[in-house]
Amino acid sequence: MTALGRASGVRVGGWGDAGRAMRGPPPPLPSGPPPLHLFTCPTVQPDMLNVHLLPHTHDDVGWVKTVDQYYYGVQNELHHGAVKNILDSVISALRAEPSRRFVYVEMAFFSRWWHQQTNATQQAVRELVRQGRLEFANGGWVMNDEAATHYGAIVDQMTLGLRFLQDTFGDDGRPRVAWHIDPFGHSREQASLFAQMGFDGIFLGRMDYQDRELRKKKREMELVWRASASLQPPTADLFTGLLSNAYDPPKHLCWDLVCDHDSSMVGDPFSPEDNADVLIDHFLDVATKQWQSYRTNHIVMTMGGDFHYENAHMWFSNLDKLIQLVNAEQQASGSPVHVLYSTPACYLWELNKANLTWSLKEDDFFPYADGPHQFWTGYFSSRPALKRYERVSYNFLQVCKQLEALAAPAANVGPYGSGDSALLEEAMAVLQHHDAITGTSRQLVADDYARRLAAGWGRCEVLLSNALARLSGSQEAFSICPELNISVCPLSQTSARFQVAIYNPLARKVDRMVRLPVSAGAFLVKDPSGHAVPSDDSLPSSSFPELLFSASVPALGFSIYSVSRVSLRRSKTHIPQPISQKPGSAVLNIKNEHIRATFNLETGFLMQIEDLEQKLVLPMNQSFFWYKAGTVGQKISQSSGAYIFKPQQQKPLPVSDSAQIHLLKTPLVQEVHQNFSAWCAQVVRLYRGQRHLELEWTVGPIPVGDKWGKEVISRFDMPLDTKGYFYTDSNGREILKRRKKRESRVGERNYRPTWNLNQTEPVAGNYYPVNTRIYITDGKKQLTVLTDRSQGGSSLQDGSLELMVHRRLLLDDNRGVGEPLLEEGSGSWVRGRHLVLLDAVGTAAAGHRLLAEKEVLAPQVVLAPSGSALYHPGATRQLQFSGLRRELPPSVHLLTLARWGPQTLLLRLEHQFARGEDSGRNLSSPVTLNLQNLFSTFTITRLQETTLAANQPRASASRLQWNPDTGTTPTPTVPPLDPASITLQPMEIRTFVASVQWEEFAWSHGGDPVQA
Ligand SMILES: [Zn+2]
Repeated sequence: MTALGRASGVRVGGWGDAGRAMRGPPPPLPSGPPPLHLFTCPTVQPDMLNVHLLPHTHDDVGWVKTVDQYYYGVQNELHHGAVKNILDSVISALRAEPSRRFVYVEMAFFSRWWHQQTNATQQAVRELVRQGRLEFANGGWVMNDEAATHYGAIVDQMTLGLRFLQDTFGDDGRPRVAWHIDPFGHSREQASLFAQMGFDGIFLGRMDYQDRELRKKKREMELVWRASASLQPPTADLFTGLLSNAYDPPKHLCWDLVCDHDSSMVGDPFSPEDNADVLIDHFLDVATKQWQSYRTNHIVMTMGGDFHYENAHMWFSNLDKLIQLVNAEQQASGSPVHVLYSTPACYLWELNKANLTWSLKEDDFFPYADGPHQFWTGYFSSRPALKRYERVSYNFLQVCKQLEALAAPAANVGPYGSGDSALLEEAMAVLQHHDAITGTSRQLVADDYARRLAAGWGRCEVLLSNALARLSGSQEAFSICPELNISVCPLSQTSARFQVAIYNPLARKVDRMVRLPVSAGAFLVKDPSGHAVPSDDSLPSSSFPELLFSASVPALGFSIYSVSRVSLRRSKTHIPQPISQKPGSAVLNIKNEHIRATFNLETGFLMQIEDLEQKLVLPMNQSFFWYKAGTVGQKISQSSGAYIFKPQQQKPLPVSDSAQIHLLKTPLVQEVHQNFSAWCAQVVRLYRGQRHLELEWTVGPIPVGDKWGKEVISRFDMPLDTKGYFYTDSNGREILKRRKKRESRVGERNYRPTWNLNQTEPVAGNYYPVNTRIYITDGKKQLTVLTDRSQGGSSLQDGSLELMVHRRLLLDDNRGVGEPLLEEGSGSWVRGRHLVLLDAVGTAAAGHRLLAEKEVLAPQVVLAPSGSALYHPGATRQLQFSGLRRELPPSVHLLTLARWGPQTLLLRLEHQFARGEDSGRNLSSPVTLNLQNLFSTFTITRLQETTLAANQPRASASRLQWNPDTGTTPTPTVPPLDPASITLQPMEIRTFVASVQWEEFAWSHGGDPVQA
């Protein structure tokens, strides 16, 4: 081992960009003193290489063990981890020695620990935070995943964690740095959201191995990420630091009790075991090598790992000694290395002071590979049932929070008891963790995540009943039917008369088909005005007939429909008719006013879609295939698992060459039922008035009796010249253009925007996360597929588009979970929907943006038997209600309406179109709203605008400024806030804390309520 600097005895000067070409003139120096919190940063040596040691622990909120098992240190034989002991130990070690510092991240654990402490300990911790010795980084409830998450849920979970910190420590505890050191690839939208939350920068641990090597060579491990194509720079610019060694300590320098192989630092010259010289030489060697990849005279070393610091004294006493010996050595022999305890914010501040220009990145960090053939693209689709449950729970949580805001405080305490949104909010936050929504936990942990969601639903159901009773004026025995997707609903199946309340969480009226299983007979459905509405009462399902009717629900409100059986005799039953297969050109159609879908009678497959208004015709072939995954006993270096997608062959096998089909046509719906195999079926459906084609697929349990793991896709093949491009959303918000080949090299099927890829996996290496949509276009026509949960997707050939719907695997992929993704239980059988839109390119965004919004925040159907009591004597029954006095324009999405305090609400308004995206209806233009007298149940008395996570006022928020090599853009000034005139730019989200006064009988003042 050599210590380069030390041996030379030469102090190094001229740091930074000296000797390297600068692009453009040097940027202006940042002016003024450092932000207040940085006054606590440690002293650095301006003419030396400063090595910032960052003691940290990475505490997964569930993975091999459940959240509670990790917190309390139960079942350590499964995986050693005890967060309670870690925090106890760290706090005592920090108090023992003032120079020590520590970084903590996951508020799901910290807040729990905090509430178990004595006043004296809490006071001591406050002091550590005030002095900068305990620094919070990220500060979300969890360190969320970035590939399978929806932006709304990310914003919610960050808000929850940051709020705890703000309430507990004030500005001293506010994290300045985002810390996403473990998520398996990084989305651009996540960076945009962090920038809008006010973070000064982010540190990342994982990136493609080829990208990493190249960046190290080019010294581009630190950069400015421009994370939005719509928001005005530098609004979504985020300084990004890529850590040298993921989040681990250097080799041989791991001093945790779980690091069995590394020796403690002895540092006793009289001991025959003294190893200090060797370890310090090694440390200096590592530091000097690492420095070659970075640009300032500062580098960081992450001193910690998964569940480290349970015995914090062990780590810290070794680091104390390392610091003492290296710095003494430096003084004695002229080594240029200075080592210090530091924090991410203090390191970032030194980078900022260096005042360099940084390279600019505008794409994302997907897909992630940690070596050849090792693409982490399987987790985009792993555990599809859990992914759907999470998405439905996001929907229900927003309904719950809105009703808590609209009907408060009658929502929390009422005739049905006490309810609130807090438990579901916390459960949803936990689900965003990078081993939860990803499907990369053990089965027992996945079951625990589902249990948490279910408990949260329970509290929200009470709230929903209280709120509906209050707003409708009548006490019904409200109930929801969570299994409506499989046509199960005990109340409607057994009642001759019942009510259907439909709550719409969007800020615009929606029309929706409601489909319920009922008992036999003929039914009459009446709308809130008492008028009969068109209905089909004899759709067959597996065991019960189904009732179908079209409902219309006002903005942020409900409509209550009544259903009654008018005859015991069954009306004419529509039975799906078997269609016999015919060779040749025989075809079959289903159609409504807008769309015609044509099927090939020889194969039973969908073969064409037509948009009848726009006169667009697109031939296609849609069917199901599976990729062959590894099997037990096979000698392979890498197998598919919960994280990794590694097909054995690049060509997928068809589930079947043909599908048996049945046809169903009623006045309200037309369906083709396709049966591909015993474990794969699909219903292709067109409801009356619907502008998209609905493909409801059912897959599972995937058979593995042939000893092959299977990864099942739905694939659409079309004669579209897509020139190697396709498009996927980033966390459900902005769209990223993906490219599977370089234009200049025909046949080259692989591409990355910032480096020349050496592709080892032509399929898995071209998979990207799809959270809500994927599309392809030939410049004229666009085919968009919306998903109902996150899935992996790609376009591997021009005109082709595929989504992975389910996977079942026999091997573990060796990334720590230690269990094959077999899903023996309820997750084995999955039903979902793909919504297919065919549009002209200029009008496509209006179609997919508005439809995705309706799917993510779908109406909540609530049932009640008829014949209830009044909410209180003298109450008036209301069968229709709107929380808004006027609808919001289509480009505006009401992202958040929630209780914030006893007299305050949290309100987020979002422009849901990207710049230039919609040319047809001008939906990409800025839009101005008047918030005065907007809501019907409360009046806004005061409005304060905040940053995205609501933990600092927007007017006083400031971020460190960075200079990208394309030129510096000044931070725009914040205009004065006028509630009567709130302007939203494309893709802008504005967050407000509103002081409000609830009105006693809201409905008597506004709207046009319909009385029973
Ligand atoms: Zn982790």
